[in-house]
Amino acid sequence: MVQFDATPLARADAHAWRPDRFLVITAHPDDAEFGPAATAARWIDAGSVGHLVCCTSGDQGGEDPTLDPMALAATREAEQRAAALVVGYAGVTFLHQPDGALANDLALREQLVREIRAFRPDAVLTHDPEVLFYGDGGVNHADHRAAGIAAVDAVFPAARNPMAFPRLAREGLAPHRARRLYLFWSNRPNAWVDVSDTLDRRIDALRCHVSQMHHPERLDARMREWAAEEGVPIGARYGEAFRLVVIDADEVDAPEIV
Ligand SMILES: [Zn+2]
Repeated sequence: MVQFDATPLARADAHAWRPDRFLVITAHPDDAEFGPAATAARWIDAGSVGHLVCCTSGDQGGEDPTLDPMALAATREAEQRAAALVVGYAGVTFLHQPDGALANDLALREQLVREIRAFRPDAVLTHDPEVLFYGDGGVNHADHRAAGIAAVDAVFPAARNPMAFPRLAREGLAPHRARRLYLFWSNRPNAWVDVSDTLDRRIDALRCHVSQMHHPERLDARMREWAAEEGVPIGARYGEAFRLVVIDADEVDAPEIV
């Protein structure tokens, strides 16, 4: 009988670059854990410093219309802080924008530029704002699109332009060039991180989002299935896929994962 090797055939190298500092910008609490949490955990384990920014506090993230949105927001912020601790983020910022009504307006852009200039990341990870449909299998939430495009617009050009939001510079928040964007949940991935060693952390972090877990017994298998699919292009057991946009090619001083 023929024995088949279960290792998938790789068609790309695993993504090896790692930022010293990275900022993750999401629309809702739990997006970061359904998104790039295992990559964040891998980078943090290797010495990177990560910070998470949630544009909303998820106050529409329930099925019960009698629920107090402010109470739900407080619950979800606590869940997100617990999840961030599991992943290893240095901190979490909530911008307290309205869930379900996030808009890429100047107010949000200024908030994000403030975060970028204060934290000074090499890379920003956010939603791919160009995704309206997930193939033919679903619609991307309007807040995800808004958070993604707001983050991109904040990174380039606003955060690096001293003339943009001049009061920030007057407060001492100097312009900052984030060199790379890693866009998650993309229909056009071009970089895959091997997260075989840190997928468990992503799953553990997801379990912190108790208010959002309708079928916690299915979580483990579902996450492993997704991550296995995203590992196929690099021949890894588990992977996370990104659309990588290199704004400033400057690899010289960037550490590599070995
Ligand atoms: Zn979301």
